[in-house]
Amino acid sequence: MTAQIIDGKAISEKLLCEIAADVEAMIKEGLPRPGLAAVLVGDNPASQQYVNMKRKTCGKNGLESYGYVLPKSATQAEVEALVKELNSDPKVNGILVQLPLPDHLDDEKILNSISIEKDVDGFHPINIGRLAQKGREPLFVPCTPDGCIYLIDQTGFQLRGANAVVLGRSNIVGMPVALLLVKRDATVTICHSRSKDLPSICRSADVLIAAVGRPEMVKADWIKPGAVVIDVGTNRVDDPTTEKGYRLAGDVAFNEAKEVAGWISPYPGGVGPMTITMLLRNTVRAAKIQAHKL
Ligand code: NDP
Repeated sequence: MTAQIIDGKAISEKLLCEIAADVEAMIKEGLPRPGLAAVLVGDNPASQQYVNMKRKTCGKNGLESYGYVLPKSATQAEVEALVKELNSDPKVNGILVQLPLPDHLDDEKILNSISIEKDVDGFHPINIGRLAQKGREPLFVPCTPDGCIYLIDQTGFQLRGANAVVLGRSNIVGMPVALLLVKRDATVTICHSRSKDLPSICRSADVLIAAVGRPEMVKADWIKPGAVVIDVGTNRVDDPTTEKGYRLAGDVAFNEAKEVAGWISPYPGGVGPMTITMLLRNTVRAAKIQAHKL
């Protein structure tokens, strides 16, 4: 059996077209263009690249983006003062503080200082708390987990009653994706570095989400035949035979896993493109909430 590939690039491009059309409809209605403020502290090249990609994708799809760069030496008070200013800036609908922050900064306090109505990354404790509670809905859901669920929905798979296994319990991916799966009535097992016998737990999964950051950890014989497999992992593996000296690998051994799974997301071209798309979708949602249209 060869799995059907979940083409995150194509799915995200289609969704971006819908988002861009939604923005133009808002403009026609007389609403201001949705705007995202991206705050970068320091000069981490990967963070710079992520922020540039996010801003570029905003521009291509009709959203305004505003970049704020603070030096690595910025104090807690300076970052919080900037967030406060952005909270009260009406042209800014969503605020993104690029993580990780330099070590001397308290990221929890900074995320707490973002207005929940502008928390388009979905990491504010009130939004996460609502995600964890029955009968409550967050204003925004974290982007990568939201992207994972969107990809699963595209396959037509019914999450209600399904056994789902999540590998990883981070605040950014593992835990919120597990909470989303519970909200969708799946029966969820969360695994982490202390879990025992991962292969047999994974083999019970109708849906398997791998978010551990361990290249090709999930092997074919960990997968239940026909399962939906979502690979969040983004890893570099040393490979002197390539020009760059490395190759990219997900957390799933894709070539063997695709022979067992029913559906599988590749890396690259799977979850990655969905993350920014969901950020834009959240920003448009924020603009509508602030305009009392939602
Ligand atoms: P973290 O390092 O924060 O968390 C990793 C999780 O995996 C932890 O819960 C850890 O357990 C668990 N873990 C690590 N090793 C093992 C193991 N051998 N067996 C079982 N569990 C293990 O990573 P993130 O959640 O931030 O990211 C995970 C992956 O997803 C990374 O490759 C990252 O680059 C990628 N990613 C991709 C994104 C995208 O847009 N595509 C966005 C965000 C992340 P414990 O809690 O016990 O330490």
